[in-house]
Amino acid sequence: MADAPTVPTPSAAPELPGYAHVYSGKVRDLYAPLGPDGTPREDRLLLVASDRLSAFDFILETPVPDKGAVLTQLSLWWFEQLEDLVPNHVVSTDVPEEVAGRAVLVRRLEMLPVECVARAYLTGGGLREYRADGRVSGVALPNGLVDGSRLPEPVFTPSTKAPKGEHDQPMPYEDVVAAVGEATAARARDLTTRILSRGNEIAAARGILIADTKVEFGLDDDAPDGLVLADEVLTPDSSRFWPADQWEPGHTQPSFDKEFVREWLLSPASGWDKESGEAPPPMPDDVLERTRAKYVEAYERLTGRTFTA
Ligand code: ATP
Ligand code: MG
Repeated sequence: MADAPTVPTPSAAPELPGYAHVYSGKVRDLYAPLGPDGTPREDRLLLVASDRLSAFDFILETPVPDKGAVLTQLSLWWFEQLEDLVPNHVVSTDVPEEVAGRAVLVRRLEMLPVECVARAYLTGGGLREYRADGRVSGVALPNGLVDGSRLPEPVFTPSTKAPKGEHDQPMPYEDVVAAVGEATAARARDLTTRILSRGNEIAAARGILIADTKVEFGLDDDAPDGLVLADEVLTPDSSRFWPADQWEPGHTQPSFDKEFVREWLLSPASGWDKESGEAPPPMPDDVLERTRAKYVEAYERLTGRTFTA
């Protein structure tokens, strides 16, 4: 590690007194609070959402100000809206000053080895599967659906949790059953589609369609379904949000959050070649500001609250 940079980048996991850093995902930094004897507790995690943004599987060099706080506050709001449907992992929002607003203390759970995805509208990977054989994750769908079509009902389309740097792959339902057992698989499927349906009922009144979403569950013998909703829920990072008034099946829908970043990256202005395998250049200020504004707008429209950093 002789060549490791000694000055951390602004988005690197901060050091937090009283906590031991355990893991950093693409967006979140995870810590274990230290117990009275100074060793990391095994039953709790501090989940700190950074301002990192990933696009085309790269973590961009330029963090988006307030993104971590927006994601954290939005998840907390949704956890409350969903409380009668499914218990969640939140313990407390009493967190160190340095990460106030963008961190949450949670129960550390054994996670299902499955990305629980549900789709209410057809696009992306689901659309590709449908075009191949009229099915999505093994579920037969009506003929004639196009990019952006609303599905008759939400479909569970689980995927694998790929190791860092690899893509998640579609996971046939039989594989979920093999991994977690029939009862747990059925409950995860049921809860995931119900979370998306509830999300869409609430979002519809605010002019937003939630095309699809990914949730993660942890195991808990004491929970009614044996499952606890963990990680984040119904955020622009875990879901596709579409402005309802611009919804028009037949082509790619404008999205809420990363559209400006993606457009800019693919345009000559960025000077970046997606196929080059090289990291994208830093984001210009206008792209950055418009992206930040979109995250804030999603939060404000859904919750009806004003975002304060
Ligand atoms: P990866 O972990 O593969 O990098 P990611 O980029 O989506 O995926 P982040 O969202 O940055 O990851 O980090 C969150 C991590 O914390 C995920 O690995 C998630 O499974 C894990 N996690 C979330 N909630 C809990 C919990 N209550 N107990 C244990 N692990 C959790
Ligand atoms: Mg995640």
